[in-house]
Amino acid sequence: MCGIVGYVGKQKVLPILINGLKRMEYRGYDSAGVAVIAKNKLWVKKRKGKIRDLEMDLNEEGISSTIGLGHTRWATHGAPSQLNAHPHVDCQKKIAVVHNGIIENYVQLKSRLQSEGHHFNSETDSEILAHLIEMFYKGDMGFAIREALQLIEGTFGVLVISTHEPEKIFGARRGSPMVVGIGEGETLIASDGAALVEHTRNVIHLEDDEMAIADAQGIQVKTLQDKKVIKAVEKISYDLSRIQKGGYDHFMLKEIFEQPETIHDSMRGRLLLEAGNAKLGGLEGCLDRLRHSYRLIITACGTSWHAGLIGEYLIEKLAQIPVEVEYASEFRYRNPVITRVDTVLAITQSGETADTLAAVREARQKGALALGMCNVVGSTIARETDAGVYLHAGPEIGVASTKAFTSQVITLALIALVLGRMGTLSSEDGQTLSQELSLLPEKIRSILKQKDLIKSIAEKIIPHQNALYLGRGFNYPVALEGALKMKEISYIHAEGYPAAEMKHGPIALIDENMPVIFIAVKDPVYDKVVNNIEEVKARGGWVIAIVSEGDEEISRLCDHTIPIPHTLQPLSPILTVIPLQLLAYYTAVMKGCNVDQPRNLAKSVTVE
Ligand code: GLU
Repeated sequence: MCGIVGYVGKQKVLPILINGLKRMEYRGYDSAGVAVIAKNKLWVKKRKGKIRDLEMDLNEEGISSTIGLGHTRWATHGAPSQLNAHPHVDCQKKIAVVHNGIIENYVQLKSRLQSEGHHFNSETDSEILAHLIEMFYKGDMGFAIREALQLIEGTFGVLVISTHEPEKIFGARRGSPMVVGIGEGETLIASDGAALVEHTRNVIHLEDDEMAIADAQGIQVKTLQDKKVIKAVEKISYDLSRIQKGGYDHFMLKEIFEQPETIHDSMRGRLLLEAGNAKLGGLEGCLDRLRHSYRLIITACGTSWHAGLIGEYLIEKLAQIPVEVEYASEFRYRNPVITRVDTVLAITQSGETADTLAAVREARQKGALALGMCNVVGSTIARETDAGVYLHAGPEIGVASTKAFTSQVITLALIALVLGRMGTLSSEDGQTLSQELSLLPEKIRSILKQKDLIKSIAEKIIPHQNALYLGRGFNYPVALEGALKMKEISYIHAEGYPAAEMKHGPIALIDENMPVIFIAVKDPVYDKVVNNIEEVKARGGWVIAIVSEGDEEISRLCDHTIPIPHTLQPLSPILTVIPLQLLAYYTAVMKGCNVDQPRNLAKSVTVE
């Protein structure tokens, strides 16, 4: 959530901050602000709205400064407004702070500060940081920040500048990502590598309770207990073209169309066609323990949770290991029964999802093997798990996840294949599966060619307020994912259900005003799904179905069909989800919604 960037060096800071914030705007976009030090004074500009609105507001003041910080907000405490936007300053306007996260004990801290005479300007939890640092400042900013942060309960990624020490930026974290870029004569600190790759590829990842003190010459890292830490400098690989729209109207559309390549990248070097197997370097050291786990618990949130559900079907079918799928936010708070013979697999695109991270920590503490599956290299989940697999899908900027989802399902299929081959899956079955995996990119390409058909169906959905998505077996989680895509970007209320569950309630909603979107491809549950379609039609429902190419019979039954190529049942979600992504996309665009920045949402949910 929210983007933070700070710069100190020899260049003019404002364009660097604005550019960095634009690169991270997908992380939060309800308000934004910057603070710089010019002529030994703090100069702060902030406003409600997008970064480009803030940019228009910047004038001559502060323009020559070479040190500053910026923030793009996703509000947790206090409405999006100019006053609540970050940076926040202390009473004397000598300290400016940007914060990502939630300060859980801010009410107590705020009343303590107020009783000591501090005056607050915003309703945010974050503002207390500026005043706490002010309270502790006795001539050493590092000391004041450490003292302040030690009082905090909750999470923070925080950057601080001050006229007390006008050549330094201070950055610290607990539970929120923070990466330091070390350039030549310049240093950047940001919550996302995207904000600094244009300046340097040399980075240091801060760990929880570490603080970086940066100036133009470099950085020093200490713990919040003031112990020096030696950090390894890593190279960040980031293809800038992948965080630009490249001719597409939206990141989401670009990312939908990238899927033939991104799933190929997820399989590259991993799929062993002749052996009918897969090789997952990141899991090698723990495959035996994983294979012999009593059960595998997959924990995730949102779209990643849907991928996890498909993982359950895949791993149970191919490898016969019991799998449970848990919402990370629920899992962690119910004192779950986890033992040393369990494995927990955390799935998160960003590798920073707060709830998922907390679930992993809980699992590790109870002795389980903790595995991670994420897209962002070097993210917290990647560093805090025993082993893991990267998706290699490239940066995903669209807030509604698309390519990360298909890569998650591909990666889960590879895990199921490896585990299956260690058990009862024959080499012939392994070969059939791996052959079919290798054909999926081409099959996705052929589905993408049907964009005009899908757009014409989307046009008919626009007047509706509700939609129902139904699927069975491997395609039940796809129904959930299709509904989630529709609601998050078009604001049409959409629900996904296992098709047979319809009879137990949702059928009451069916009439001519309810679009019902079925996934009805030729697989072992096809006949059952056709029965469910008949039940909807018998009640006057309006049916759109994702069907197998050449299925004429079902076309007669449904109002609209979107044919897709055939594949093996366990792999079908990777194809059936594509038309549903496009259906949501076109519906939202034609309704005039901002698909890349849907209201109230943000990418990378780093707050609980
Ligand atoms: N809790 C802070 C606020 O509401 C920070 C939110 C964020 O991470 O953007 O201002």
